[in-house]
Amino acid sequence: MSGGRGTISGVKVTVLVGGVGGARFLQGVLAALPADADVRAVVNVGDDIWLHGLRVCPDLDTCMYTLGGGIDTAKGWGRDDETWSVKAELEAYGADPTWFGLGDRDVATHLVRTRMLRAGYPLSQVTEALCRRWAPGVALIPASDDRIETHVVIDDPETGERRAVHFQEWWVRHHAEPVAHGFASVGRDQASACPAALAAIADADAVLLAPSNPVVSIGTIVDVPGMRAALAQAPGPVVGISPIIDGHAVRGMAEACLSAVGVEVSAEGVARHYGARAEGGLLDGWLVHSGDTADVPGVAVRSVPLLMSDAEATAAMVREALDVVGLAGV
Ligand code: GDP
Ligand code: CA
Repeated sequence: MSGGRGTISGVKVTVLVGGVGGARFLQGVLAALPADADVRAVVNVGDDIWLHGLRVCPDLDTCMYTLGGGIDTAKGWGRDDETWSVKAELEAYGADPTWFGLGDRDVATHLVRTRMLRAGYPLSQVTEALCRRWAPGVALIPASDDRIETHVVIDDPETGERRAVHFQEWWVRHHAEPVAHGFASVGRDQASACPAALAAIADADAVLLAPSNPVVSIGTIVDVPGMRAALAQAPGPVVGISPIIDGHAVRGMAEACLSAVGVEVSAEGVARHYGARAEGGLLDGWLVHSGDTADVPGVAVRSVPLLMSDAEATAAMVREALDVVGLAGV
């Protein structure tokens, strides 16, 4: 990368992302940076799940479809022009689970993925192969090639019994309504970070934490063994964007996740939870929405509009994120 305004050619930016919020943010990153920028996304795999014998990776697919032009823009996830014959047929067989909808077009993605995984390819290579079709314009790198799944401890709404369920069961089936008593990253202790993800952090001019869910998207990524150390040692600055505006998650149910881990639902609460890199945490910079404040020693905070209403609005916040740590000129 070269310095000076308008000359940020060949800049390398790595972004930690979840699904819908992460994908929208990546659209803004692409819009903000020159065409020769090297954009890599380290994507959460904690939501991944086996369903009907198929490996489903919701956050990777949301990023891939969104950036590749195949997303259902109204829902924010799944394929456009989707049909649901397979789902109806599975229901007719009484095949559980019926609460997770796999669309017909979407199923093709999971079939290709599952077949490649079964043939021995790591998830990162499978994702690369799927992306050859979609050409998302960013390298989508799973946080880990190993199986790591977020589970949630809840009191079962039917039996009242306390048990751990897969994140998707809590999120999709129960709409995050049962109080989460805690989260566990099943498989994490035996897992390691994807080497390409570590490399993407180690040679980035800047690392951005998308305004994704701080607990079950960003939190799950940084808890993958090796990831925190990579971020601590990253030569480039690390800047986060608040998913919380005026004390509320902009979309979705992130508030239930923050409460479960005892983090105040505010832009400052999330920043303190991430912590200053100077103090062993994650952040050098933090963007909060206009009117919000955050006081975190060691973190450069700036207040700018943070609503991702379109790619240009999102691009403006990406420029601010780079500017707050002195990477001007984009
Ligand atoms: P998921 O994996 O599909 O749940 O998506 P992510 O984890 O990537 O993103 C979910 C988060 O994005 C939620 O916590 C929202 O608060 C946040 N979010 C969604 N839209 C916006 C927006 O326009 N601006 C900001 N700042 N955050 C947003
Ligand atoms: Ca997700």
